[in-house]
Amino acid sequence: MPGAAARAAESERALVKKAREIAKIAAAHAEEVDADARFPREAFDALKRERLLGIMIPRELGGEGASVACVSEICSVLAQGCASTGMIYSMHQIKTSSLTEHCLDDEWMRGFMRACADEQLLLASATTEGGGVGGDMRQSICGVERDGDDFALVKEGCLISYGAQADAILITSRRTPDAPASDQVMAVMRADQYRLEKTGAWNTMGMRGTCSDNFTFEGRAPARQIIATPFAEISAQSMLPYAHLLWASVWHGVASDAVARSEAFVRAEARKRPGATPPSALRLAELLTKQQQMKALVVAGIDRYERARSDADELTSIGFGVAMNAIKLSASQGVCEIVQAAFLICGILGYRNDSPYSLARAMRDALSSPIMINNDRILGNVSNLLAVYKHDASLLR
Ligand SMILES: Cc1cc2nc3c(=O)[nH]c(=O)nc-3n(C[C@H](O)[C@H](O)[C@H](O)COP(=O)(O)OP(=O)(O)OC[C@H]3O[C@@H](n4cnc5c(N)ncnc54)[C@H](O)[C@@H]3O)c2cc1C
Repeated sequence: MPGAAARAAESERALVKKAREIAKIAAAHAEEVDADARFPREAFDALKRERLLGIMIPRELGGEGASVACVSEICSVLAQGCASTGMIYSMHQIKTSSLTEHCLDDEWMRGFMRACADEQLLLASATTEGGGVGGDMRQSICGVERDGDDFALVKEGCLISYGAQADAILITSRRTPDAPASDQVMAVMRADQYRLEKTGAWNTMGMRGTCSDNFTFEGRAPARQIIATPFAEISAQSMLPYAHLLWASVWHGVASDAVARSEAFVRAEARKRPGATPPSALRLAELLTKQQQMKALVVAGIDRYERARSDADELTSIGFGVAMNAIKLSASQGVCEIVQAAFLICGILGYRNDSPYSLARAMRDALSSPIMINNDRILGNVSNLLAVYKHDASLLR
């Protein structure tokens, strides 16, 4: 009789196996999703059908209680087929983490998590704001207006990936209109509780299938849908670690796809001249080293987060925050370097849009990574901590 840990590992392997099948569906539509900047609906229909959206919800609420490692692997697997699919899946799970990490004691939130698992709800995020706030998650201009047991919220200049397709949005704002800009809350609102007025279309270089249009958000809901934990705590303790780890997993998937195309190219070259090693094989050996570094970065980051989760001191320490930020910075640089190095291997066939070795989409998708929460903004935040932080030189876990 296998123990609980063995059963959990077996069940996570089955989830990843389903994701591998869905990645094939995502890959078959990736070109069209990219060309038309449209939602990858075939992949998300399959993810809902196979019940992969609610896997992070605890088992007692109808989910699978999947680990961060399992979700990270699925993000990477999906991104190997279609980066937009992987990115949407990662953002949905980042939103789920705000519920699973902070709301398990709240009755309404438990009911909502149950609905997420039962109905396979797709969750989106509205943190970015207009009026000069941009990607600065530490402040907001808009505020929650209380009206009896309800609240109303209007947020302008939102950039909401798959906003039009989402079943619910987790949105941030000031606690009240008069609260300081940094005193924020996060509320959960279902699609029938808000209206999105589209103010700009997502016509970008890459990640086109995320459909990250600009909207004005206007909603009203019962006040119990505001998460009790202050947003600053949610952000530091779970949202940023999940975002940095799961985005890094998506970029690892994009990088792996570029490496796979390079491997296929070098093998095809080798078949043309049996007995001779193609010159590009040397570059491939170098590329595999970079990919290994990226993989080690993500795996070590997940390991660190899993250990910190049950240690409040570690979770709120400067060292932990610096480490999570470093993962985002390194992985976003790493994916761009890997795709660029793959270009040198595949040459003109990598540069073409219409070859089996094409790296054009991978490059365009990868270039979103340093600006998804701008790397300079993150470096700026880290630099503010350096007066009180000294790096940890130990190799011990
Ligand atoms: C594919 C994709 C999907 C996205 N999906 C969503 C979503 O679903 N929901 C959502 O809310 N947002 C989303 N975003 C937005 C994202 O989270 C950031 O808000 C956005 O990328 C930041 O854009 P920005 O460069 O205009 O703004 P900012 O981060 O405001 O940066 C503006 C400029 O100021 C500089 N800068 C700012 N602060 C500093 C500092 N402290 N130190 C140094 N330089 C600084 C930066 O270099 C940058 O050039 C998405 C972005 C992308 C690319």
